[in-house]
Amino acid sequence: MTTDLAQFAKDTGVKYFMISFTDLFGGQRAKLVPAPAIAGMQAEGAGFAGFATWLDMTPAHPDMLAVPDPASVIQLPWKPEVAWVAANCVMEGVSVAQAPRNTLIRQVEAAAAQGLHVKTGVEAEFFLLTADGSKISDPADTAEKPCYDQGAIMRRYDVIAEIGDYMLALGWGPYQADHEDANGQFEMNWDFDDALATADKHSFFKFMVKSVAEKHGLRATFMPKPMPELTGNGCHTHISVWDAEGTNVFAGQGDGPTGEVGLSEAGRHFLGGLMHHARALTALTNPTVNSYKRLNAPTTTSGATWAPNAVTWTGNNRTHMVRVPGPGRFELRLPDGAANPYLLQAAIIAAGLSGLATRADPGPRHDIDMYAEGHTLTDTPKLPLNLLDALRAFDADTTLKTALGPDFASAFLKLKRAEWDAYVSHFSRWEKEHTLDV
Ligand code: ADP
Ligand code: MG
Ligand code: MG
Ligand code: MG
Ligand code: MG
Repeated sequence: MTTDLAQFAKDTGVKYFMISFTDLFGGQRAKLVPAPAIAGMQAEGAGFAGFATWLDMTPAHPDMLAVPDPASVIQLPWKPEVAWVAANCVMEGVSVAQAPRNTLIRQVEAAAAQGLHVKTGVEAEFFLLTADGSKISDPADTAEKPCYDQGAIMRRYDVIAEIGDYMLALGWGPYQADHEDANGQFEMNWDFDDALATADKHSFFKFMVKSVAEKHGLRATFMPKPMPELTGNGCHTHISVWDAEGTNVFAGQGDGPTGEVGLSEAGRHFLGGLMHHARALTALTNPTVNSYKRLNAPTTTSGATWAPNAVTWTGNNRTHMVRVPGPGRFELRLPDGAANPYLLQAAIIAAGLSGLATRADPGPRHDIDMYAEGHTLTDTPKLPLNLLDALRAFDADTTLKTALGPDFASAFLKLKRAEWDAYVSHFSRWEKEHTLDV
């Protein structure tokens, strides 16, 4: 593991470091620092004006310093003279409470204080569009059921294989790539890791996919629902929790009505936390106006949205919010491509730890097809219908807000409410068409 960035530059020939942090809207912000200056920057941090990013600061705030975490450094496979390194935000010697990576680190530490280590894997789906973002880049990619289309993935082989080669070289353990359920949509999977490592890789993956697509004259998007009639970009997150000895504390004998689900009591309570806080969690896992075109969505042209519409869990069945695909882990299918990689992990851990602390009951397991029969469940909470609904649910969830940090929660809510206000005050063609003749 890298500890000295100046030495890393000597060993690799890197000429510039991108000292990068992620703001509350998921934006990745960086300064390029020449290798001869990196030792000083590693000690002191790179200076930023916080107000110029989405962190809820004023222009009068003192300089914010982004202090690189050398363990996260990655030499850009497509531009080897540059290295990316994730940084933690500090102001006047104090960790910036609302900065997403700091928010996640607090959750990782809270779990570690209980001897628990959360490991996660993300499935960050994306579309490959034409450079201007207006349409799917492959005009032949028109199948009604395009999932796993072997011709279509081979027409984008140069992009997918380049990203796959890079993940192999980085040692991420990539193990598959496929054409997904929407025309123009792809997914690439790599091995799960500690939550902070997964968040850093997730951030870098988005940067890498966009950069490689751009190199090939295309545009990659992780937008939750870029095409209204097609399946959207999910970011399913698989979760397991391990003790210090490396034993999976979620793995157990039973818990489903028939015992085959394979979650321990701890796994059940963690799941109970996610179920209990699901509506609030949605503000963080589905943080944009567009996110709610993917959730609660009408059927897509492929026949299914593959996105949840209610707070339910099940065994190996992809129509619910949580799927338990096998022993010792579960899959949260709620998050979408707009989720901030750090806040996604932080929110899951905070909700899960709350479930462990309260011995939360996840409620009954439902083994129905939610798309066909979901309406028959009358006692099941629905997911928020729009961003405002989700923000209100988060604001009302004092437990989750306190666990994530009150300073984080108030900054996030303030900026996201302002975004919602900007959206609703936008004068749309729809309202004119529907209101002109009243
Ligand atoms: P799906 O069947 O949902 O499409 P994928 O194979 O695309 O599944 O993605 C599964 C993800 O879950 C990968 O990132 C994988 O490494 C991760 N994963 C597998 N086992 C575990 C586990 N025990 N804990 C956390 N993540 C896991
Ligand atoms: Mg300046
Ligand atoms: Mg998958
Ligand atoms: Mg998928
Ligand atoms: Mg999945």
